[in-house]
Amino acid sequence: MDPSRRRSAARKWVVAFLVLAGLALPVSAASAGTIPDTKLGWSSCLWPAGKTITVAVDPAFPLPAGASDRLNEAIVRWDGVLRTSRRGGDVVRVGDGAGDIVVQYRALEGTDTSEVLGETYLERAGDAGFTTNIGVCPDRRPAAFGMQAVQIRIAPRNDWFTGDDNSTTNWQNCGGSTFRAFNPGLCTPTVDFGSTMTHELGHSLVFYHPQTLDQIDNIPVNRTDSASAQAKCVEASGEFPPQATMCSGQGQWRAEQRTLETWDIETMHRAYDQ
Ligand SMILES: [Zn+2]
Repeated sequence: MDPSRRRSAARKWVVAFLVLAGLALPVSAASAGTIPDTKLGWSSCLWPAGKTITVAVDPAFPLPAGASDRLNEAIVRWDGVLRTSRRGGDVVRVGDGAGDIVVQYRALEGTDTSEVLGETYLERAGDAGFTTNIGVCPDRRPAAFGMQAVQIRIAPRNDWFTGDDNSTTNWQNCGGSTFRAFNPGLCTPTVDFGSTMTHELGHSLVFYHPQTLDQIDNIPVNRTDSASAQAKCVEASGEFPPQATMCSGQGQWRAEQRTLETWDIETMHRAYDQ
């Protein structure tokens, strides 16, 4: 990883997802428990209560092969939690074209580095346009703004992994240099489309990175009382597998952020149970 770039991204509060260099890290035990409200990534922007949030791919920027199924799976994961929230509502895929959330396989804004995998652009009710500044939706505040539209851009790359959930375990073996040497075709893709899609959909529901909360609070990410520690982000936990989807960095040859973890689910409930 490049710490300076990661700090820079956080300072601008850009809603983005970065790739971290592959690291060999020890596995440690994970602990469970209810996470304090102040350590969850809820914001003051929410989609209207009970709304069916539609997700469409922009036909002008179509997804690469295999990616459409990964988008569907990411939608289903968030949808399953939203349906159980007090506000209700759901998230559904619709045909290519118009949607509340429009996904584009499109180059990111010019200032972003090649390490940025995706970005989410937010538009609140009454806003004139989109912004990547999640600061327009203040963190950990009661509902104050309704969401109107979202665009997600996924960076065009030649190293996306779009395999299904049954294939991720084998692909993750590419983290080992010997395995990589013997499986060059499998290991050419280094970043996971499904994880990126799940992460950006979380931003579309207006959730923060735990790392951004820690920056706002001026708490080191590796301190035990950080939001990043609660979310088991790699900087705090020392390992990739338990990371929340909303942690800001994806490891190379890592797919665990396809699935929602406790931090993601409790964040959604804190936001959408209001
Ligand atoms: Zn992000």
